[in-house]
Amino acid sequence: MINASDAVGRQATVYSLVIPIFNEEAVLPLLVRRIGMLLDALDGRAEAIFVDDGSRDTSVIFLRGMAAEDDRFRLIELSRNFGHQIAITAGMDAAAGEAVIVMDADLQDPPEVVLDLVAKWKEGYEIVYARRIRREGETWFKRASASIFYRLIEKMTSVDIPRDVGDFRLIGRKALETFKRMPERDRFVRGMFGWMGFKQTAVPFERPMRAAGETKYPFWKMVRLAVHGIVSFSDKPLRLALWAGLAISGLAALLGLYAVFSWLFVSGVVHGWTSTVVIISFLSGINLLMTGVIGLYVGGIHAEVKRRPLYVVDRLTGFEEAIAAMNN
Ligand code: UDP
Ligand code: MG
Repeated sequence: MINASDAVGRQATVYSLVIPIFNEEAVLPLLVRRIGMLLDALDGRAEAIFVDDGSRDTSVIFLRGMAAEDDRFRLIELSRNFGHQIAITAGMDAAAGEAVIVMDADLQDPPEVVLDLVAKWKEGYEIVYARRIRREGETWFKRASASIFYRLIEKMTSVDIPRDVGDFRLIGRKALETFKRMPERDRFVRGMFGWMGFKQTAVPFERPMRAAGETKYPFWKMVRLAVHGIVSFSDKPLRLALWAGLAISGLAALLGLYAVFSWLFVSGVVHGWTSTVVIISFLSGINLLMTGVIGLYVGGIHAEVKRRPLYVVDRLTGFEEAIAAMNN
């Protein structure tokens, strides 16, 4: 794990921006310019940590150049694609600031909003998240599925996971240190911040379109994130079997009564195989479904007991100051 935060050289850093990058070459020139302006506008020493999540385009070359040129830019290159949630974890591990701001690379999280987040932090909030009040240019399907997901997870878990909030947020040092003590592999970062408590508040913003390039969250990746979110913050699906079992037993008892009734009072009834086939296939469906649900949780346990590191760093650029300070 990267632990640059105790480095003497960066002690004075007030703000750290953490930006995950996966094949974002189309948006990088614009992004870097806007981030540079934001760093200037912030009222304290600020750094921008880009985390390359195994990009297969020219993003890395561009960012290496930037990080070598401007000493406020740093780059962490992961050894392969570990996924968005792990990439932001790597960035937060390396952040030296008193306040850490996580934002997307595609400028859907507008840099100006960061100043509003900072203002709330100064009022004493430990975690300030940005809430999307409108989403521009995203497909009807994406908005509908996101909305269903936030409402579903709200019903399924006792942890407060705020609605319509992504990973765009500011967290203070206390929350960051708490986050670093949460070693779980199955990372649903927005839920983890909901779990830890502290004084939290929201800043509303209108989510613009992606500035360039296309989404790195295709449908199956969104489903995976949703399933991970639910499995790691709720055990309700496990208890589904109980209720399904009870309901089906009830139906079976009624069916039994009906069979006895017809045996007693109706003469010569031969029940066709239709009902048998329907009942057997229905029950085996339920059985397989519940085995799958249990499998999800067992898979989670399996990933957890292997105790592998969360991510692997291939190369760092722009951390020289911090590394030199550690070696002294
Ligand atoms: N991202 C990443 N690794 C991945 C997928 C995405 O680091 O495997 C980054 C991506 O570069 C962007 C952020 O996560 O900075 C959000 O992705 P995107 O904007 O494509 O998601 P959307 O806004 O469409 O949900
Ligand atoms: Mg986006």
